[in-house]
Amino acid sequence: MSYAPFDWIDDEARRRTDAGLVRTLRPRDARTELLDLASNDYLGLTRHPEVTSAAAEAAREWGAGATGSRLVTGSTALHAALERELADFCGFEAALVFSSGYAANLAVLTALGGHGSLIVSDAGNHASIVDGCRLSRAATAVVPHADPEAVRKALHAHGGPALTVTDSVFSVDGDAAPLTGLADACREAGAALVVDDAHGLGVLGEGGRGALSAAGLAGDEGTVATLTLSKSLGSQGGAVLGPARVIAHLVNTARTFIFDTGLAPAAAGAALGALRLLRREPERAGRAREVAAELYARLTDAGLTAVRPDAAVVSVRAPSAASAVRWASDCRAAGLGVGCFRPPSVPDGISRLRLTARADLTSAQIESAVATIVECAPSSVN
Ligand code: PMP
Repeated sequence: MSYAPFDWIDDEARRRTDAGLVRTLRPRDARTELLDLASNDYLGLTRHPEVTSAAAEAAREWGAGATGSRLVTGSTALHAALERELADFCGFEAALVFSSGYAANLAVLTALGGHGSLIVSDAGNHASIVDGCRLSRAATAVVPHADPEAVRKALHAHGGPALTVTDSVFSVDGDAAPLTGLADACREAGAALVVDDAHGLGVLGEGGRGALSAAGLAGDEGTVATLTLSKSLGSQGGAVLGPARVIAHLVNTARTFIFDTGLAPAAAGAALGALRLLRREPERAGRAREVAAELYARLTDAGLTAVRPDAAVVSVRAPSAASAVRWASDCRAAGLGVGCFRPPSVPDGISRLRLTARADLTSAQIESAVATIVECAPSSVN
């Protein structure tokens, strides 16, 4: 018998090709004329000289890597400063920095969702939350999108220790979670609320303090936030914010904290530089929201179907996966980078173009981006 343990991969690849769902890597150039509406650099900080200098200085001072896990050699004064300033800025008692937002979500859900407990998770939650639920020893109830009543019912049906987890701003459609309703449902049931504020930090709340601050939930005894440092803060890494006892519990039990190398000093330095810059220039947050609102208004005026943005993500419907891919690639050929979401990355099977509003886009750039998207649109959408 021939030995071919990977033949099944070719079968899967063929099915993906037939369905128009092949994913490929496209290394970008350092300098490009492309107008970028695809990245998550909401505040335009990833290339800001203050942020890149902070990264370079941190690498010179502390080295290129953290040298070990946080509990061994990987905690520096820079990590401690970043944790202090993040907690203070967002209004929480304490913070813990991770090597990614993905690791932060896995940490919280595995460390807080033990045997016999229940995690109630929104159907539109990010993949890192889905994976955190799978890795935890808790039972998971997936509830309909943005539905506090469904959360209330799931919590009451369980009756024991529980937590509810939601994105603050959903990454596919850019709509906001009903945080006040979810917090009420959790309080009634004595459950914790975990909110992934990856897309809210730097965009929502006063001066970009995030969705929890905007909802009056920052510092709440029963609420924990997870963050990424890779979007508004233009760096890389993740964080958990919450009561000091929750953070101490993560330090002692969260496997993606304990067994992972600490965040690289350059990334910690860049995030700290970006955070300090945002404190000095709080208007960047409002500008990102304004740009999103303007993109939405112009695209829908032109007859396209889009979701009204609650933060900086603008989602535009496409008729099919294949037409979405063609639409995005025609935009790219015309000098505009846009995101393209399609199955299996979308929970409802609907393909979209995904645009991110950046605080540093000019009116002329917004106008040109909208003109390109409209010109390249498949004939069936307008
Ligand atoms: N949560 C959400 C909602 C996200 O969009 C992302 C990033 N795509 C993450 C978590 C993961 O963050 P990171 O990229 O820092 O791992």
